[in-house]
Amino acid sequence: MKYETNIGLEAHLQLSTKSKAFCSCSTEFGNAPNTQACPVCLGLPGSLPVLNREVPASAIKVALALNCTIADRMKFDRKNYYYPDLPKNFQISQYDKPLARNGFLEIQAEKVVKKIRIKRVHLEEDAGKLFHKEGYSLIDYNRAGTPLLEIVTEPDISSPEEAYTYLTFLKSLLRYLDVSDCNMEEGSLRCDANISLKKKEASGLGIKTELKNMNSFKGVRNALDYEVKRQSAILEEGAEIIQETRLWDADKGLTTSMRSKEEAHDYRYFPEPDLTPFVIDKEVSERIKTDIPELPRAREVRFVSQYHIPEYDASVLTQEKKTADFFEKAVEIYNNPKTISNWIMSDISAVLNERGISIDKVRLSAANLAKMARMLDEGAISTKIAKAILIDMIDKGEAPDVLVREKGLSQISDAGELEGMIALVLKENEKTVKDYKSGKKNALTFLVGQVMKASRGKANPKMVNEILKSKLK
Ligand SMILES: [Zn+2]
Repeated sequence: MKYETNIGLEAHLQLSTKSKAFCSCSTEFGNAPNTQACPVCLGLPGSLPVLNREVPASAIKVALALNCTIADRMKFDRKNYYYPDLPKNFQISQYDKPLARNGFLEIQAEKVVKKIRIKRVHLEEDAGKLFHKEGYSLIDYNRAGTPLLEIVTEPDISSPEEAYTYLTFLKSLLRYLDVSDCNMEEGSLRCDANISLKKKEASGLGIKTELKNMNSFKGVRNALDYEVKRQSAILEEGAEIIQETRLWDADKGLTTSMRSKEEAHDYRYFPEPDLTPFVIDKEVSERIKTDIPELPRAREVRFVSQYHIPEYDASVLTQEKKTADFFEKAVEIYNNPKTISNWIMSDISAVLNERGISIDKVRLSAANLAKMARMLDEGAISTKIAKAILIDMIDKGEAPDVLVREKGLSQISDAGELEGMIALVLKENEKTVKDYKSGKKNALTFLVGQVMKASRGKANPKMVNEILKSKLK
């Protein structure tokens, strides 16, 4: 393509503090409309906001994890606009003195590592929610005043796919920090985008459009894909892009013009007089820094070097902190990282994905998975048996050795018993034995299969192979 794409993303993250940013109303999701609203978040005359201390603490944690410089002082500003979901007619936000600036998030797709620069991270409050009905609208103010963290990137992202990757890495990081549930369905993590195209040889950036109303990471990717096509078609005709805000329509798969782009001065920003500037103590930042756990990218790199597992395994295992913790605990008990990783990534993940839950929500313990891996390596059970007992380990939390005993699934590794079975199979398959002796080596596979069948999958396949070979000499 002859155009270069520049994308910037604005992620809005609901911080999961118990109460709202400037009052003591609960932030719990899913309660009856307007049961979590007080004079402060409704903007009634005479009410005054008070900053919830948990809010800057969580925000600083995120900003530090994103390698940002934390401001010494931050202040809040009023962003003025009139809309029914905003009872005060202004939103408390941060304009010229944001909480933090100049960070970056490292992402990796395929083998390419890239740093996406973070321009700023600032705090603001969420608005209420509107429900548009036939001929009227309903308003729920339960969400009004919930703390939001806005994370703004530089236009460093060069494709819709890369935007998707960035969001995946950002979400993983935010979940490690335990500051938000990042649930897109419940609106805890939302994302707007801006995108511009320019000829490869041109300097500077092209004219951008802003995209809103994307409800999932895939929605962000699809909306950007659409915009790349729309804008390049306009540029192809020699026309100009109009700077505007466009809404993504997921059902129709297209963006439509919402309004021409408003400038900052349209919002009449001015300092919030009811909240004093907030001094951020260096010591407080330092203390928060020590609370930051090892982050997913660092952990991924360590997994490869420490456990000698493939990069792919390391990236899958470290995406969720709980999965990574589970893996490390199991490996600590029984040191076979690759076997343990395989089980987590395949059979266990299949069950978790189907149910849409994380590994801590099932009864499988790391100790039991470790035990199962050991039994496999020692030949006490076959892969087939392991697969058969896994679901009870997951749902009932039972130990593999107990399940094997209860279900009579122990692998037959007694040479005498196996020889008896093998003798019988050889007698019943004289033709195959002749084939084998005349050079058809794959006849052996068939005979092994017959023994396994006769033992109902319980014979130790390695031993069956060895005994058969010596008998057939
Ligand atoms: Zn309130």
